[in-house]
Amino acid sequence: MAQKGKIFVVGFGPGDFKHITTRAVEALQQSDMIIGYKTYVELIQDLVSAKSIVSTGMTEEVSRAQEAVRQAEAGSIVSVISSGDAGVYGMAGLVYEVLIELGWTEATGVEVEIVPGISAINSCASLLGAPIMHDACTISLSDHLTPWNLIAKRVEAAAMADFVIALYNPKSGRRTRQIVEAQRILLEYRSPDTPVGLVKSAYRERQEITMTTLAEMLEHDIGMLTTVVIGNSSTFFYDNKMITPRGYQRKYTLGDEKQPLRPHQRLKEENEPWAMNQETGMARNDFATDPNANRIKPSLAITSEPKPKKKSSLEMATSALAMVKGTSAVRVTPKLVQQKIESIFELAVSPGVANKFFTPQQMMTLAEVVGEEGTMEYTPDHRINLKIPTTDPAVITAKLREVGFLLAPIGDVLSLKACDFCYGEKTDSIPYAEEIQEKLGGMSLPKTLNIGFNGCGMACYRAVFDDIGIVYRKSKFDVFIGAKPVGRTAHAAQPVVEGLEPEQLIPLITDIIEEYKANAHPNERLFKYFKRVKKILHFTYQDMSSKIKVEPAPCGD
Ligand code: SAH
Repeated sequence: MAQKGKIFVVGFGPGDFKHITTRAVEALQQSDMIIGYKTYVELIQDLVSAKSIVSTGMTEEVSRAQEAVRQAEAGSIVSVISSGDAGVYGMAGLVYEVLIELGWTEATGVEVEIVPGISAINSCASLLGAPIMHDACTISLSDHLTPWNLIAKRVEAAAMADFVIALYNPKSGRRTRQIVEAQRILLEYRSPDTPVGLVKSAYRERQEITMTTLAEMLEHDIGMLTTVVIGNSSTFFYDNKMITPRGYQRKYTLGDEKQPLRPHQRLKEENEPWAMNQETGMARNDFATDPNANRIKPSLAITSEPKPKKKSSLEMATSALAMVKGTSAVRVTPKLVQQKIESIFELAVSPGVANKFFTPQQMMTLAEVVGEEGTMEYTPDHRINLKIPTTDPAVITAKLREVGFLLAPIGDVLSLKACDFCYGEKTDSIPYAEEIQEKLGGMSLPKTLNIGFNGCGMACYRAVFDDIGIVYRKSKFDVFIGAKPVGRTAHAAQPVVEGLEPEQLIPLITDIIEEYKANAHPNERLFKYFKRVKKILHFTYQDMSSKIKVEPAPCGD
């Protein structure tokens, strides 16, 4: 009996030699014959030592598969090649179909090995940033082998279910309407601003990357070699990158910082209220992506609400009649998909830098925005920390600002605490406190940093017990740095400048903060940093704590 051949079905990745797998190269080199579409055979030619290369036109896929089977049965080792992955709109399925037709089985037939490759969804995503990240799907817009109505249905289902979508075969010389129709369907469910990435010829010579939006994507060049990546409702652009967040965030804080959950905080119901309850098998409906999904197409419902009752024939006839007349009796529901992300918004409020008086209106606004679900906590820093579950932090900040609150982020940031400047003449220094707040307040730092600002030498607001203390005295400033504000070894800050001219204050404080920010370890408070490096600017560290003899006692002991 003649020696049996072998068929490799090889995905060679996007097209450059760096992104082809070692196994794919081995397969190509072991093969007596390479079969593939002309352009692709040319792409990989330099890797191939095969004696015989069969390249055929784009549409001759079936004959390519048949030829491969014939050659393998005659004893040859054959590689059938596809771009990307051979199992994604590639040759793998077709080779099996031809084999099955001939009664092939693994035990009796020629050996078949499918060699995986990097598919366009992956190679294109890597060039765009991280747009896939979450549940995604691929849809080919080619209706040569698939009825258009089915493709349209899949586009709609994916749009409705908020999948990130990679559209393959979006357009060719003769198929130009499909992408227009796909965009129309998508716009029924997604915002026109939804980020869209177009990648043409990924990792090939003529590579082009375009960032656009769902509304504008058709204004750009889309062709046979383009993959169109449509973001989901939380995908965003950042610095020319397209990014889909991995999941819901539990917290927002003021400013841009996001605070992802630490590993031990995950999987707790209070932290992940959108997850399925393991005992009841139920999930809260208010996190579903599309509250109207049930009403639009019960068969595609993604929430667990009971299906709507079947319509009576009279109801159906009435609505059909209305449609014919052009006035719809069916209530049109907006279908826009939006992830309703309720997270805890954390921020701190105070009446002002040098103002300790709340107005009744401020108290009422606080009560209104915090509501039944939120909390407000008075802190030793003369602020009130708020934690409010919300889907829209901007509404809360707008209301608080409108009644004159000063807002600050919570966490490892710079905060300014000033006394209320009890004597009128000392109001001279208030503008400096306000300028520091404006310039540096809320800046994120390796660790919490409080600046205490006191309006007279009495320093009754204890500025010298803050990380940086500023005391106004005789129209000049005294500056202290490096207090250890808490603990049994707490100590005051070290005086570093006395009688500083007012115009030198803000540049000096800015320099100290910048040096600390640039050089401190994460979590290293200013006093620890000063102790470690022994010098901040030209100020030399003096040991303010050596006289304190007491065992350290960590929190809780
Ligand atoms: N088997 C291939 C897909 C073949 S269908 C794979 O897994 O990637 C052909 C479609 O794939 C093209 O119309 C285009 O949408 C996409 N495609 C393939 N290679 C690409 C590349 N290098 N850059 C961008 N898109 C590509």
